[in-house]
Amino acid sequence: MNVRDALRFDREHIWHPYTSMTDPLPVLPVESASGCRIRLADGQDLIDGMASWWSAIHGYNHPVLNAAVERQLSKMAHVMFGGLTHEPAVELARALIGATPEPLRHVFFADSGSVSVEVAIKMAVQYWHARGRPQKTRLLTIRRGYHGDTLGAMSVCDPVTGMHSLFAGILPQQVFVAEPRCAFGAEWDESDIGEFRSAIGRHAGELAAVILEPVVQGAGGMRFYSPHYLKRVRELCDEHDVLLVADEIATGFGRTGRLFACEHAGISPDIMCVGKALTGGYMTLAAVLATGRVAYGVSEGGGVFMHGPTFMANPLACAVSLASVNLLLESPWQARVAAIGESLRAGLAPCRELGCVADVRVLGAIGVVETKRSCVVEAFQKAFVARGVWVRPFGRVVYVMPPYVMGKDELAALATAIVDVLSLADGAEAEFFEPGSRGG
Ligand SMILES: *Cc1c(COP(=O)(O)O)cnc(C)c1O
Repeated sequence: MNVRDALRFDREHIWHPYTSMTDPLPVLPVESASGCRIRLADGQDLIDGMASWWSAIHGYNHPVLNAAVERQLSKMAHVMFGGLTHEPAVELARALIGATPEPLRHVFFADSGSVSVEVAIKMAVQYWHARGRPQKTRLLTIRRGYHGDTLGAMSVCDPVTGMHSLFAGILPQQVFVAEPRCAFGAEWDESDIGEFRSAIGRHAGELAAVILEPVVQGAGGMRFYSPHYLKRVRELCDEHDVLLVADEIATGFGRTGRLFACEHAGISPDIMCVGKALTGGYMTLAAVLATGRVAYGVSEGGGVFMHGPTFMANPLACAVSLASVNLLLESPWQARVAAIGESLRAGLAPCRELGCVADVRVLGAIGVVETKRSCVVEAFQKAFVARGVWVRPFGRVVYVMPPYVMGKDELAALATAIVDVLSLADGAEAEFFEPGSRGG
């Protein structure tokens, strides 16, 4: 393949995430990836700070995960899940039920995170329908959330960053309250739950479920909020007979320091979505877990759950997921995540001194530098690549969530590059930040 031709074709014919066809951002051709390194077509190696959007927790090209795919491939790549089942699906479901909080014991396999959110919403709506309360169809959520790009999922994303105005008229109208103000680790302030408390009280009769990302709001701004908030949400859902859906698609599988972020609050949702790191970053798969109350409730009166994608429980994806979950649980993941957190805390601290930086925060194996103005992605990307790292900011956050297997030296190099690039940006604001201040 001629790289220049490929790049021209790509530019003219292929959409990348959130890009324009008339003026696309530049993309870099990748030749291969291994461990914590991404190798570009020109031979340059980049230290990967993104784990391909939370997913590649064991690094790339992992021998155990490769072997799981190859073993399954020699048996079958896929069979339909209607009327058939297979060992990878059964064993993965068993592993997920074992790893997630009780009493989540029923599993629906979905194609992607967004689809799992659709499935969770449909499950909640069907539950109330079967229980004779068909008016309970709306969702209550918090601002600054992100739940995916399909229409149902978009309806519960933050109305501003989720561009609700663009899709006004076709998105279901959900109930929003302000995002939690009490940060993770800060002293809990009971007034923080006030708006949520009154909203759930006012709307309970029409609410099927509350949906939120537990503790970490990811793509809506990388905010870490108090687990006390989540605890109150669980209590209020019970009090008002509203289901709780926890979107653990980004937070699941150890990223926040607990296997699932709900554990920070010691709560269990009625429905949980997992995805991203589920397959260790090998391919797309997500799962929705539900309690017996929800799963059996949906079928009260003989109904069936109305969803069944073509590639449901794809055996290759299930096999690699099972290998990934086992690899994680057999590894010293708590110690690794804690060590990454410490490294990032120390390494990113100098950013606090920079005028362009509003906040620096670390939770689990997630490091965030929040800037005062929106980042010019292209400028940052170029500066990071020149320093041998792969970090891609969005909005006002420069953030990393490295593979758990990243070593001390690579972590230090990653943090140094972030400090260097932000120092550079501090002196060249016009090049690195969008015009107009969006405040601290
Ligand atoms: C990424 C993400 C999704 C969407 O998952 P896709 O696999 O991209 O469809 C949903 N919710 C959260 C919290 C996510 O981080």
